[in-house]
Amino acid sequence: MMIEHKARKRFGQNFLQDTRIINDIVYAVRPQPDDVVIEIGPGLAAITQPLSQKLNRLHVCEIDRDIIQYLKKQSFADKLIIHEGDVLQFDFRSISGSKKIVGNLPYNISTPLLFKLSQVADEVIDMHFMLQKEVVERMTAVPKTNDYGRLSVMLQYFFEMESLIDVPPESFTPAPKVDSAVVRMIPVLGRMGIAEDFKHFENLVKQAFHQRRKTLRNNLKDIASDEDLQAVGIQPQQRAEEIAPECYVQLSNYLIKKK
Ligand code: SAM
Repeated sequence: MMIEHKARKRFGQNFLQDTRIINDIVYAVRPQPDDVVIEIGPGLAAITQPLSQKLNRLHVCEIDRDIIQYLKKQSFADKLIIHEGDVLQFDFRSISGSKKIVGNLPYNISTPLLFKLSQVADEVIDMHFMLQKEVVERMTAVPKTNDYGRLSVMLQYFFEMESLIDVPPESFTPAPKVDSAVVRMIPVLGRMGIAEDFKHFENLVKQAFHQRRKTLRNNLKDIASDEDLQAVGIQPQQRAEEIAPECYVQLSNYLIKKK
């Protein structure tokens, strides 16, 4: 490592040190010189440096002030547009154009961040993220599996997702306790139909998975009757994990229309 930087646990700092993995990530992103690329959490520039070599400019969003000082001193600093602060507060729409978003994400904020990013999916070309492998498995899970849940439905509504690279703990300093994986996310809005009232759809999915072991009749009793469920081809005694994402969209739209 190039500087004395004590990794900060509260910022989820696990720095990539495996050149092969770094090269694989940059290759997967396929940056073109004029692309609008945003890197979340550049840290000590493991991905930032090789990415910046291929780009005219690179937006980075970083919370750690010491790291920002470090980045400003690097030879490629003139290519960086540094956004200092919490990415959860960052307005991605403030950067114009269709964006490619990249990051070895701080695992402690990955779920709220993924939900936030779904809201700007219409301005995104693709996203490549390092995440806990277990989270990637939940994101990409299909119905009738243990990993399939609210995260799968809500993200699959917005994105096509593919797990690209498995990454072991030794690829980082310090090594995290869990395995990691790189996921590619490509927006495909409309594939599952369009939820006419997104908030309603979001709440419906949340309620459906509220108690996984219970039937949909039970979890949705305040929102939908047996007849409502049957109208879109769902049996009331089915469980949330048996239902495909597009069925939740259909149910939400059906309930909205009935109101
Ligand atoms: N990209 C580097 C690498 O691969 O070695 C660092 C990855 S490290 C897992 C996560 C990075 O995100 C750290 O640089 C950390 O300071 C930064 N970070 C943590 N929380 C953040 C937040 N809320 N907003 C912006 N950056 C954050």
